Amino acid sequence: KAKEISGNSYHFFSAEMDTRSFENVKYENALYKALDNEELVLYYQPQINYHTKQVVGLEALLRWHHPTDGLVPPDKFIPLAEETGLIVPIGEWVLKEACQQLKKWHEKGYAHLNMAVNLSVRQYEQDNLFSIIKQTLEEVQLSPQCLHLELTENHIIKNTDLTLQTMKQLKELGIQIAIDDFGTGYSSLGYLKNLPINMLKIDKSFIQDMTVDEAAITKTIIMLAHNLKLDVIAEGVETQEQAEFLYAQSCHLMQGYYFSKPLCAEEIETKYLHK
Ligand code: C2E
Ligand code: MG
Ligand code: MG
Ligand code: MG
Repeated sequence: KAKEISGNSYHFFSAEMDTRSFENVKYENALYKALDNEELVLYYQPQINYHTKQVVGLEALLRWHHPTDGLVPPDKFIPLAEETGLIVPIGEWVLKEACQQLKKWHEKGYAHLNMAVNLSVRQYEQDNLFSIIKQTLEEVQLSPQCLHLELTENHIIKNTDLTLQTMKQLKELGIQIAIDDFGTGYSSLGYLKNLPINMLKIDKSFIQDMTVDEAAITKTIIMLAHNLKLDVIAEGVETQEQAEFLYAQSCHLMQGYYFSKPLCAEEIETKYLHK
């Protein structure tokens, strides 16, 4: 009986794999053209200071307007972009686009806004990452202080001297560095104090499914950040209850559907940036 079940699941699994790899091939070819065809767009999700209820920053989140499949979320194509190395030119585009958008919003009178950009491990493997970022900031005439770069714990586990050196250079320039999805990786805590970072971003899994254990972990991360003199932001905040809990624990920075979903630039302007 057990054999029968495993036999079935094998067939099911392999059929699924076939369609997946078909999708991959299909997407891989299309993704090569996506940048040139201007099919990539950035959405922006507000980051809120719950104490002042003000939007203090935005996270740039990549979307792909596929010509026939419609809006493709990043989970569907970023792994592929990383495998193929396409994430490097795509990541450079994201950085420039996000900086240019922030500059426009600064010029419209919202000079206090920050922009958070996600970077792939593959980008840290490039030895010119620092100079690309520095050059982009200069070209767009944006001060480094308003750029936040998000990296995951995987970056740190995989960290080579190059990654660490680049992080140091970026931080010295004044850029803010945040660890995304914090609490889900396997990096050792002792390591944190030696890392050139400014902020921990509590992973949404702890916020969304807030049982007693998750609440304990969330409290611990907030305390850890405070003790290490790091900023802390919670992502995936969906309810007022979650926001109040975080606020009571002195985590004032938040991001999530409770405040806003990621929106295109025009929607951000009409909803949040009109005087
Ligand atoms: P992330 O950086 O951790 O981004 C947070 C994800 O959570 C986003 O998904 C966002 O839309 C979603 N989210 C925000 N608030 C809520 C909420 O209240 N509830 C729930 N359930 N989800 C929420 P998204 O946009 O699909 O992005 C997924 C991941 O793709 C990102 O995770 C990031 O790792 C990656 N990504 C997105 N844009 C880029 C990019 O430009 N470059 C790179 N390298 N990676 C990117
Ligand atoms: Mg992020
Ligand atoms: Mg995250
Ligand atoms: Mg993530």
